[in-house]
Amino acid sequence: MHSSSGNQIDFDVVIVGGGMVGSMVAALLARYTDLSIAVLEQRRPDAFECGSTPDYDIRVSALSIATQNMFKKVGAWQGVLDRRACLYREMLVWDGEESGQTHFKADDIGACALGHIVENRVVQLALLDVLDHSDNVDYRSGVRLQRYVQGADAITLVTAPQSSALDDNSDEQTLRTRLLIGADGARSSVRELANIAMHTDSYEHHALVATVTTASQQQDITWQRFMPTGPQALLPLCGSRASMVWYHNAEEISRLSALDDSSFLHEMMDSFPDRLGELTSVLQRGSFPIVKAHANTYIANRIALVGDAAHTVHPLAGQGLNLGMLDAASLAELVADAHAQGSDIGTRRLLRRYERWRRGDNAIMITALDGFYHAFKPQPQPFRKLRSTALSIADNAGPVKKLIMKYAMGTSGDLPRYAK
Ligand SMILES: Cc1cc2nc3c(=O)[nH]c(=O)nc-3n(C[C@H](O)[C@H](O)[C@H](O)COP(=O)(O)OP(=O)(O)OC[C@H]3O[C@@H](n4cnc5c(N)ncnc54)[C@H](O)[C@@H]3O)c2cc1C
Repeated sequence: MHSSSGNQIDFDVVIVGGGMVGSMVAALLARYTDLSIAVLEQRRPDAFECGSTPDYDIRVSALSIATQNMFKKVGAWQGVLDRRACLYREMLVWDGEESGQTHFKADDIGACALGHIVENRVVQLALLDVLDHSDNVDYRSGVRLQRYVQGADAITLVTAPQSSALDDNSDEQTLRTRLLIGADGARSSVRELANIAMHTDSYEHHALVATVTTASQQQDITWQRFMPTGPQALLPLCGSRASMVWYHNAEEISRLSALDDSSFLHEMMDSFPDRLGELTSVLQRGSFPIVKAHANTYIANRIALVGDAAHTVHPLAGQGLNLGMLDAASLAELVADAHAQGSDIGTRRLLRRYERWRRGDNAIMITALDGFYHAFKPQPQPFRKLRSTALSIADNAGPVKKLIMKYAMGTSGDLPRYAK
């Protein structure tokens, strides 16, 4: 466990951000090493006891098979299933202007499922169950990072209660660590304090997300229609509920957001494709701007960035969290191996290996999602025809289709062993 001297506590690893990705790094390191780990999190999510049925978290994610494998490895998958998760076996993607479509089915590659749709709160709480039972993890919630000082062999961090004023240092605490992991999301203070620049680009799109009830029973298919104004998706949730994601420009999203529930439902039903059946009520709504961002580097002296702290992608293919989870598994694997060999876990060499492993793969995904976004923006007719034909070809070309499916399931490429 950690050691302390005076007002300072020593940990092998400090993770700033106990969201989904930060908690996964902590759970993997706790499972495979005896390193002492501190997790600093501003806010612990509200409890969701297994067997209870609280309101849905409006934020949901499509967890890939690779991410599911990590949950199984750390013993958190049952905690997801015991709360709420909706398995999906099929994925239908179609061009809203032309006739092209691709229908992915788990059966086609001999798999039982393509993934699960899970509320973000459930993801976080299932991992927290594991962290709460790990002797080598100190999960500190209601805490924020104030500042840190880099030394050659360690980083010294100062934390403060989340509720304290910025200039109040009466409750500050000092932690020292050999490796600092920034898992503190898109507005990462670790990244900012390390002076790591981001390459950022805003999309014209904003996203409106709504939890709705549907006339049809629970489904096992995700639907996505590409319109010139942006994609529209319906993801199944448990019972006859679904999560709807509607992308459009900022003005239209704020107009839709301002409508009362009944007018909103009418507008959605008017423009919703008939094949998705009837929406019966809106349970909750929220909207987000969409930003593409990639950190110029994922590492600094004894510092590594993971998840949204390192990259944010267009959510149209539901890949953002899954990429972050692969960062988590790759970094944890390198750290566990170095520790097993008795080596320093914060060396430049180790961190560079992590960056080389993940940054290129993430850049490919960012570019691919960008390509998708641009292909479906308003285009002249010959291009539209070509785009639609490409979707139909992908539907009929077995090997291409299987490759895309494996990519979406996260089971292709140079996978860390914890994701297999
Ligand atoms: C509309 C929408 C739909 C999406 N759908 C999907 C999907 O289907 N599939 C998918 O894979 N991805 C999806 N994503 C992306 C996904 O939500 C993110 O990639 C994911 O949340 C990133 O997780 P994270 O843990 O890196 O960051 P976050 O979830 O942002 O977590 C960061 C954590 O750090 C804490 N924190 C921040 N600053 C500090 C500090 N200074 N001190 C202490 N703690 C701090 C925060 O409280 C938070 O808990 C979607 C995104 C959007 C906007």
